[in-house]
Amino acid sequence: MTRPGLEVPEGAELELLGSDGVEIFDLLSEMGHEQVVFSHDPSCGYRGIIAIHDTTLGPALGGTRFWNYESDRDALTDVLRLSRGMTYKAAVAGLNLGGGKAVIIGDNKTRDREMLMRAHGRAIDSLGGRYITAEDVGVSVEDMDFVHVETESVVGIQGRSGDPSPVTAYGVYRGIKACAVKRYGDDGLGGRSIAVQGAGNVGYHLCRYLTAEGAKVFVSDIDDARTARCAEELGVEVVELEEIYDVDADVFAPCALGAIVNDETIPRFRFEIVAGAANNQLAGPEHDAALKEGGILYAPDYVINAGGLINVYSELAGWSSDRSHRKAGEIYNVLLDIFDLAESDGVTSGVAADRVAEQRLRRVGRLHRAPLLSGVKW
Ligand code: NAD
Repeated sequence: MTRPGLEVPEGAELELLGSDGVEIFDLLSEMGHEQVVFSHDPSCGYRGIIAIHDTTLGPALGGTRFWNYESDRDALTDVLRLSRGMTYKAAVAGLNLGGGKAVIIGDNKTRDREMLMRAHGRAIDSLGGRYITAEDVGVSVEDMDFVHVETESVVGIQGRSGDPSPVTAYGVYRGIKACAVKRYGDDGLGGRSIAVQGAGNVGYHLCRYLTAEGAKVFVSDIDDARTARCAEELGVEVVELEEIYDVDADVFAPCALGAIVNDETIPRFRFEIVAGAANNQLAGPEHDAALKEGGILYAPDYVINAGGLINVYSELAGWSSDRSHRKAGEIYNVLLDIFDLAESDGVTSGVAADRVAEQRLRRVGRLHRAPLLSGVKW
């Protein structure tokens, strides 16, 4: 039976939400969620959802997104999908974190934020550390300070681990080298050519690493000041926005937008590797297979861009910046394992990455359950 407000979704969401009548608990069991909390504070109009997907590896960590969703169902779909993604990201990166995410429903341009954010902080605090939040779309570092008034379950606040972009860029750089060794048998990037889309926080630092190793770098950005900085400081070649897909380069490193690997762009690619920081690079899951068919090696986005998560994890684990960089550097070996598994199982690298995450979750899950199963009390 379909409940009011949760009609059978249409189009792409249909698959995610299950094909027949959608019951909330059917949905949670299909996606594997442990807990979903709906919170409401009428005094300030706060409406929030916190989704804890899986805490096998540790407390569920993931940002808070502040967004004017068209419906509550859209908000729920988003928070369920994003929280599950965080479980996989942390698992593959080898972090002791589970997956979670939160959404606040409303206009993220509102100036009246203090009470909203504090209400959100109280909702988070009621979970007793099972969910830890951070910044995401529509939320600022200042907002996180308000959340922090109410709870300690927050990372990325001012004066702590700081800008994650340099760590993310380092992880992406190491990931590109792993792709190079897989593809060419040599991870040296001197003489290789790389097209970087987006010269923002991550893109700029990535260009620094690449040019320092002698790679030929092309860059595009809607913001001319950003490309100019890269050209002047690092000697990269600036290309027009649309031309970035046609550059005759070995590697495409998307560091701006999602969904840029799609039916329109793939036929234009002369790249042999796609490896960059942007989230949700593939327009659809079928584009992973399309890249494979085209002989293009794809570094799954959530694996190669895990440096940002590693950086906030360093706050919880008390790691130095050096240690975070070392951990981000391990993305090199993580990707090589994924490529090996993809080859041996005859699947795409995206599917292989999911399998690596699930293997770790199963292994650690068994470990946790072992005393119960054997009846041994610790
Ligand atoms: P950013 O906002 O600093 O940089 C993005 C850049 O892309 C901006 O300079 C923007 O002008 C440019 N841009 C926008 N539209 C463009 C277009 N059509 N063509 C070319 N350039 C365009 O963001 P960032 O922190 O550098 O992150 C880049 C990507 O990596 C994002 O997708 C982000 O979600 C992802 N990511 C970032 C981190 C991190 O640590 N910052 C971690 C994981 C993933």
